[in-house]
Amino acid sequence: DALNQSLSELRDIDVSFEFFPPKSQQMEETLWKSVERLAPLKPAYMSVTYGANSGERDRTHDVVKRIHQQTGVAAVPHLTCVDASKEELRQIAQDYWDTGIRRIVALRGDLPKGVDKTEMYASDLVALLKDVADFDISVAAYPEKHPEARNAQFDLLNLKRKAEAGASEAITQFFFDPSVFLRFRDRAAAAGIDLDIVPGILPVTNYQTLVKFAGFTNVHVPGWLHKQFEGLHEDDHTTRNLLGANIAMEQVKVLAQEGIKHFHFYTLNRSELSYAICHMLGARG
Ligand code: FAD
Repeated sequence: DALNQSLSELRDIDVSFEFFPPKSQQMEETLWKSVERLAPLKPAYMSVTYGANSGERDRTHDVVKRIHQQTGVAAVPHLTCVDASKEELRQIAQDYWDTGIRRIVALRGDLPKGVDKTEMYASDLVALLKDVADFDISVAAYPEKHPEARNAQFDLLNLKRKAEAGASEAITQFFFDPSVFLRFRDRAAAAGIDLDIVPGILPVTNYQTLVKFAGFTNVHVPGWLHKQFEGLHEDDHTTRNLLGANIAMEQVKVLAQEGIKHFHFYTLNRSELSYAICHMLGARG
């Protein structure tokens, strides 16, 4: 009751949505339906991923441009530095600035197989972008530690370097237990990290895919989540959606009560669950 009472008093929650460039005609339709459905919720921004080493940067840019033109919502490209020279990155940043883009999600990107060193880390990209123009910069943060980081403290200091290089916001890797996020937020504050730390919320509908993804991103999947999906038929989309929405709603309720004011949704280009969760949070079209 207390949770629901405090939720009904919420008025000032910001949301943002993440999409990826579609790879087929059918995925293209799904994406634009989702953008149209979510835009009236007046998100702070909609961001579009760029798969490092995928060569899809132009597609990222096309989606970003169209989101902005079609909806008026601020559209934010992700940019990775692992697969581009400094000169290329400067040029891309300048082009983005010239087309009116003011926020960028700055990332290193995953290292290609067999490579274990890189010339640039995300903190270097943040500095480079700030040198080109006064972008608002979001970076990635890992409440359960980035898989490559030698320990959690080292990873936290890396986040601090990204803040000191000029980032203003960190979006977290997804997680399931709200206390994982809250502890991380406290540790970041104790380390003097001056960033808005925004929880990345992944509404889960496909448990098998989640387990695979969580494995290589170092995200702990709690036993209770496994139990929720256990025994469900693959084709039972309705039940899976209801369960996924319920899990994410419980998660954001706790976080909202702990004072979180901005939620970032990994939509996977779908709108149903994110829309329902945002509605519960008080967002209205
Ligand atoms: P960094 O912050 O550079 O950190 C990478 C690793 O290097 C960490 O382990 C860090 O501790 C370590 N490190 C940092 N500096 C040093 C140093 N000087 N010496 C040694 N080690 C160091 N990937 C994509 O390809 N495209 C996307 O669009 C995309 N979007 C994302 C959005 C979010 C919100 C998140 C959380 C991740 C996203 N990713 C994306 C994944 C990301 O690219 C990978 O997790 C990547 O492996 C690390 O990127 P980073 O920006 O966190 O790197």
